[in-house]
Amino acid sequence: MTTTVITNIGSLVTNDPALGEGPLGLVGNAALVLDGETVAWAGPAVRAPAADHRVDAAGRAVLPGFVDSHSHLVFAGDRTAEFNARMSGRPYEAGGIRTTVAATRAATDAELSANVARYTREALRQGTTTFETKSGYGLTVEDEARALRIAAEHTDEVTYLGAHIVAPDHADDPAAYVDLVTGPMLDACAPYARWIDVFCEKGAFDGDQARAILTAGKAKGLLPRIHANQLSYGPGVQLAVELDAASADHCTHLTDADVDALASGDTVATLLPGAEFSTRAAWPDARRLLDAGVTVALSTDCNPGSSFTSSMPFCVALAVRDMRMTPDEAVWSATAGGAAALRRTDVGRLTPGARADLTVLDAPSHVHLAYRPGVPLVAEVWRRGVRVA
Ligand SMILES: [Zn+2]
Repeated sequence: MTTTVITNIGSLVTNDPALGEGPLGLVGNAALVLDGETVAWAGPAVRAPAADHRVDAAGRAVLPGFVDSHSHLVFAGDRTAEFNARMSGRPYEAGGIRTTVAATRAATDAELSANVARYTREALRQGTTTFETKSGYGLTVEDEARALRIAAEHTDEVTYLGAHIVAPDHADDPAAYVDLVTGPMLDACAPYARWIDVFCEKGAFDGDQARAILTAGKAKGLLPRIHANQLSYGPGVQLAVELDAASADHCTHLTDADVDALASGDTVATLLPGAEFSTRAAWPDARRLLDAGVTVALSTDCNPGSSFTSSMPFCVALAVRDMRMTPDEAVWSATAGGAAALRRTDVGRLTPGARADLTVLDAPSHVHLAYRPGVPLVAEVWRRGVRVA
């Protein structure tokens, strides 16, 4: 294998406290040695071993590629008018998710795949090297399976979300829809997915339905994750911990018992500040979770309705400014936290053996992600040891 040393790194985030300072394992004046697709060595530049090629980072900051563990990229259509009405204080009487379901069903495979590719490229340019994405805008056996087949062309982290809402065609009989989601739809979708998800919320699926859906998915070898406690208090978070879900996503309305449950289990709390930003909703209380010892991830929730951003740097800035996370905590949650929410140890860190997925910032420190919000600081992105953006 060819080795490459990236040297003269002003500040390197490794996410390994054994390699440097604090939880980020920060190393100043650092170097990183890549061996093919993986990291071979990380530490002070003066101690770096020899390599075949040398890249000068010119004092810039290097951090692990972002791990966006929650997005909804397999969709068609546009909801500009809905967003514009919401932000203009006007009532809006269209169908929300149902609008996207109709447009997605009407789209061709090629159109859906091109859309995923477009937003994947957009995210990559902003430093995202690993992302999860979901179905959930098909809501028929054929359309959900198609969405997952297309998603799997773009990422290994594919989530079956047939239980996004009760399909409009089953609005009068939600129980029959749950039977479909846990029966024929699951059979058709499981081959393409690693994860199963459910929107556990008033107006979507209640705790008993969510338990039935996730339990059926587990029996088919899928791993659970949950849209939990986003719009109201509810059973989602406790169910996530009970079923050992990798992540409870949103966590905006939590009781003390919910926080205690998250602190006692292995379920990550994934916060999605783009959703609160884009709906002018109250922020989740990140400080309360962190102070209780809960593992927190940050993700975009990129979707055409409630959070149409693919930018992890934007989410980091929101988390620091509005959710009172420190810059170090936010960067950890957007990298190592996202990896934990996907139960991955090969990404989200720059340590020997990890995948050589990294971002070079046009800045001397990762803190600039929050200090300089909205500025395109991502200068280079490397994935599997290759400079890709
Ligand atoms: Zn979501």
